[in-house]
Amino acid sequence: MTRTDYRRTFPILTTKVNGEPLIYLDNAATTQKPQAVIEAISHYYAYDNANVHRGVYTLAARATNQYEAVRDQVAAFIQAPRRDTVFFTRSTTESLNWVAQTYGEQTIQAGDEIVVTALEHHSNLVPWQQLALRKRAQLKVIQLRPNGELDLAAAAEQITAKTKIVAVAQTSNVLGVTTPIRELAQLAHQRGAVIVVDGAQTVAHQPVNVQELDVDFYAFSGHKLYGPTGVGVLYGKLALLQQLTPVQFGGEMISNVTFERTEFAPIPQRFEAGTPDISGVIGLGAALKTIQQLGWPAIQRQENQLTAQLLNGLLNLPGVTVYGPESVAKHGPVVAFNVNGVHPHDIATGLDLAGIEVRAGHHCAQPLMQTLGVAATVRASVAFYNTTAEIDRFLVVLREVKEFFQQ
Ligand code: PMP
Repeated sequence: MTRTDYRRTFPILTTKVNGEPLIYLDNAATTQKPQAVIEAISHYYAYDNANVHRGVYTLAARATNQYEAVRDQVAAFIQAPRRDTVFFTRSTTESLNWVAQTYGEQTIQAGDEIVVTALEHHSNLVPWQQLALRKRAQLKVIQLRPNGELDLAAAAEQITAKTKIVAVAQTSNVLGVTTPIRELAQLAHQRGAVIVVDGAQTVAHQPVNVQELDVDFYAFSGHKLYGPTGVGVLYGKLALLQQLTPVQFGGEMISNVTFERTEFAPIPQRFEAGTPDISGVIGLGAALKTIQQLGWPAIQRQENQLTAQLLNGLLNLPGVTVYGPESVAKHGPVVAFNVNGVHPHDIATGLDLAGIEVRAGHHCAQPLMQTLGVAATVRASVAFYNTTAEIDRFLVVLREVKEFFQQ
């Protein structure tokens, strides 16, 4: 199947919004779901529904096998060395909070440093800020270059012998820039710290190899790569996961319980207390299969072309300010901008009337907005199923909306 064939498997892309064909350009918030994902979920509920890891009966084995097969898929997807170094959470947010509440809680002491960057989403900032406050540790911030790229020299200054954790997004959900994870991991490790990576905006757009990057923890959400909401992933290095005490207790995560004490199950079950989102995990498996079948070259070719068209179109529109690097080579498929003198919400509302869905606001990155010196921006973000005709239409309508408000 070609990329266009895959586009046709996303039912929502044939719907209308405000009487106009939907042009969905908010893929950084969440992606749309192909029929394969929708069917995998409904097939599970229709024919295979049972709780996992519990029953000795056939149906339970069927559900468990499907659920566990997705763990293998996820491990292969991010090149994790072993399947048990990957476990399912609810989201990137839950994965990052989990690291703060286990590794962070168990290692950070007063006077230690936690280092983040100026481009973090709140979910890779607030958990570390709160941990630092609880422990009387110091939260330090690596600043950006004027074009939004991370400054490695600044990183080398901020990460010191007192640093215990470096937490960084691999791709900014606002500026679209990617950060030099391997170099940051090296810096962190040289100083005796671990690196925690927020891969929420990366995994749908480029292959990730957690071993090559040498990261200690890697978090992402299924819903940003064509899977369902409610399922996230956390990868951790084996030695780290083995030393961590769980924070959630209950069914599925134990091997033996008495009134006095509990022996925990081995990893990864130890960290998956209670009934998981079985259908969601199975849906995530179908999403990963779609990406694999379509292949990275086709995905990246299309997304690079669309990003170039979007970025250049916006840069050539007078009265528009684009945030982040102006070079496509340095850009993920996310572009933030403002129309001078017009509130971003007005721009997004005007586009919505033409069926074009973009995000306006602070994008859960208020400190970054302060760095940029604005309260909010408009953000357009593409996925492989978007088309050059859609970006053309977006640019035409944006010009009309801009002229309407600037009159
Ligand atoms: N980090 C980044 C960079 C994101 O873009 C997002 C989602 N906007 C998150 C974390 C949080 O993801 P979720 O809401 O799925 O937990």
